[in-house]
Amino acid sequence: MDTRGPHRLGESAVVVGASMAGLCAARVLSDHFRQVTVVDHDALSDDVRWRPRVPQGRHPHLLLQAGSRLLEGWFPGILDELYAAGATEFDFCGDFYRYRYGGPLVRPPTGMVGPVMSRPLLEATVRGHVAALPGVTLRGGSSAKGVVTGDAGARIVGVRMSDGSALDCDLLVDATGRQARSLGWLKRMGYAEPPTSVVTVDTHYTSRTYRREEQPGRDWKAAAVIGDPDSRRLAFALPWEGDRWVVGLVGINGEVPPTDEADRLSFARSLGSPVVADLMAASRPLDEPTSYRFVANQRRHVERMRRFPLGWLLIGDAVCCLDPIHGQGMSTAAQQAATLGRVLDESRALDRHFSRRYFRTVAHPVAAAWSVAVGGDFVYAGTTGRKPTGTDLLNRYMTRVTVAAQHDAAVCVRFGEVSGLIRRPEWLLTPAFVLRVLRHARRPGESAPRTETTGVV
Ligand SMILES: Cc1cc2nc3c(=O)[nH]c(=O)nc-3n(C[C@H](O)[C@H](O)[C@H](O)COP(=O)(O)OP(=O)(O)OC[C@H]3O[C@@H](n4cnc5c(N)ncnc54)[C@H](O)[C@@H]3O)c2cc1C
Repeated sequence: MDTRGPHRLGESAVVVGASMAGLCAARVLSDHFRQVTVVDHDALSDDVRWRPRVPQGRHPHLLLQAGSRLLEGWFPGILDELYAAGATEFDFCGDFYRYRYGGPLVRPPTGMVGPVMSRPLLEATVRGHVAALPGVTLRGGSSAKGVVTGDAGARIVGVRMSDGSALDCDLLVDATGRQARSLGWLKRMGYAEPPTSVVTVDTHYTSRTYRREEQPGRDWKAAAVIGDPDSRRLAFALPWEGDRWVVGLVGINGEVPPTDEADRLSFARSLGSPVVADLMAASRPLDEPTSYRFVANQRRHVERMRRFPLGWLLIGDAVCCLDPIHGQGMSTAAQQAATLGRVLDESRALDRHFSRRYFRTVAHPVAAAWSVAVGGDFVYAGTTGRKPTGTDLLNRYMTRVTVAAQHDAAVCVRFGEVSGLIRRPEWLLTPAFVLRVLRHARRPGESAPRTETTGVV
């Protein structure tokens, strides 16, 4: 007898999309279905290499605390495996040089430790664990192109593949990313798309890898230098396995980072801190720069959908696709999968109640990440779309939080917990915390004595 999981909700589930959201979804589904099939357009090899349909894999990716904790819970030992494969063990406060509003944040050591690595290494490692789960099959090189329905179109009972075959399923999970391919299939059957919020930021990445060598005096493992909002410029340097740095230069609101190395260096030098520029100047490039344009944050309000077929869900970027500068996409996808796992645990059948419950509860982690990302993007004057009420006031306060985090370890840690999605944004608004921030209220860039104690706020 198969004793996996709390209880069975169906025979088979199909996940379309084997990127981070699809892989995390497969993990939780495997507790409740005898057979879980994950299909993806791209060939899914064991190699660590970027995939054509996940082009963002060539750019810096930070796995936030929320994401790494969920992965370790689902796949015990995975973090050690990543370290063994060359990922850098990294304290999100202690090892992270973050420069913003005229100064670097303090760097107290914390328990917020996780791996930094390339996206292909992370994805290949997670994929290996998912492929080893009992009942899970990964099918690379397979494109889904439609659905099979039952109950006169009221329920999804299968997925049509582009080779003409069909996969039966009790539940279809669409993890096809921002495009949410199944919405087009459902539209042909008369189902409306969920209401969607869009906030346009027009972010451009240009990234390149460099040979990583010891540099005397460097006491950080990763750096983010964020120029003043008017400059619309940022730079990241993250360590990748294989003794590499990846340096991402980022422009916001249509600012396009250059690809020529001399111009890249000037771009990095134009920021308030020279640390990323110095690293580039001292390191040998290993490849050609590669660019990516992200136009808009997009959130599908699945919680407001009135009509949808049973046996169908969206997850990951298909629900909410966020400006990558905030580094939340993979962790938010993992949080959505964790939500799906909880709803499956609590459900008795794949009925309307199950679907509604999932759509309603998945909106919670999504709303938190959306408020951080969209709020952060409205710092830039050219960002357009519906601005949540109070954003300008909140952003003025967030400037104060950042300035306080340049001096106060406790503020820095709390800020890191919220940015790492392990605390909700409301934790930055508790009376004790606000008072602590306001005690440091001074103009951005003004220096003040540093508080090394983490305290309690
Ligand atoms: C430049 C950049 C930098 C980023 N940096 C970070 C970061 O630092 N930290 C972070 O957490 N996130 C980051 N992200 C976001 C992150 O990449 C995504 O949020 C994450 O990949 C989750 O997306 P997903 O799995 O929902 O979809 P995707 O990653 O878009 O994957 C969708 C998958 O579906 C497959 N697919 C699509 N249609 C079909 C079909 N019809 N049949 C079969 N397969 C199909 C595709 O082949 C693909 O594998 C970044 C994104 C970008 C663009």
